[in-house]
Order: sequence, then C-alpha cells, then structure tokens
Amino acid sequence: MPLKEYRRKRDFETTPEPRGRVARTGAVRHFVIHKHDATHLHYDLRLEIGGVYASWAVPKGPSMNPADKRLAVAVEDHPIEYGEFEGIIPAGYGVGTVMQWDTGVFTVVGDKSAEEQLEEGEIRIVMLGKKLKGGFTLVHTKGKNWLFLKKRDEYADPDWAQEAPKVSKSVKTGRTMKQIR
Ligand code: MN
Repeated sequence: MPLKEYRRKRDFETTPEPRGRVARTGAVRHFVIHKHDATHLHYDLRLEIGGVYASWAVPKGPSMNPADKRLAVAVEDHPIEYGEFEGIIPAGYGVGTVMQWDTGVFTVVGDKSAEEQLEEGEIRIVMLGKKLKGGFTLVHTKGKNWLFLKKRDEYADPDWAQEAPKVSKSVKTGRTMKQIR
C-alpha cells in the first residue's frame, strides 16, 4: 500500500526506475540521498521506515552546519530497491538526472521507533553515511513541510559548502551530475 502513489506516478514501460516492493526492516536501517536535477534541482532524503523509503525533497540539500534549517517537503514513499538507482529518467514523472549523493545507515534516538516518530512528526536519528554523519532531526512544521536540522556534535561543520568538490560527487560512481548526464 505505501507504494501505491509511487507506482501511480510512473510508467514502468518507459522508466528505468524499479517498480519495487515493501521490504522487511531489520535492526539496521538504510538511508539514501539522491541529487535530482528535474524541473528544479533538489535533493531527495530517503529514510527506511516501515519497509519503504519515507522521502522528502530538500531544495537546498542537506547541511552539516547546525545553523542551517533546511526545508524538507514530504513526497511519496519509494521502494528500498530505489536506493541503488543512479542515472537518467528519460521521460514522465521526475524526468532528469539522478545521482546517488549519499548512502549509509541510521539509528533512531530515544525509545520510540522510527515509525512512531514519523507519525508524531519529530524524527531524531544518528546517521552514518559517507557525507552525512552524526545527529540529525527532522521536524514537521505544517502540511507537507518539515525542517531537516544538523545537531551540534563532533561531526558538525560550520564551513559546510554544498558545491565543494568532495561534497558534490556521486558516492556510488564518483561522477559529477554532468558526467552522469
Ligand atoms: Mn526528486
């Protein structure tokens, strides 16, 4: 059921994106962040919750600087298989270039599960990615809008720059957006 909206938006005859299915979630949860050059360049934050990737579009991209408050707009759930995707969506919904910008695992902070935290609108996690590390909070504000915030910890980087060479390339293939295109 959680993938109904994802499938409704796509024609799997014409897109290389996976059709996907709901996965079983173990103790280790995965996350992926795609950089997606569609109508507007944005980043898609995807957290493994409820056997799918709960997803948010982050227009300015994630930041390791705790001073940044990044808007994250809730979008449709994606299948876990989607985490491996990098390439071109040639036509239809989401047409454009997709880069695997970061991948890794995360754990939930506190006694509540990620599913409960999502439901309640405040997700507190520790991420172990190649680029994103340490504590983060996703807070629901209004409607589909959330804020994605870096916690102050030893990984925080006040000089974080989104287009720095080490930050801007694919963690899967080392390619830039231009090279993928
Ligand atoms: Mn997107």
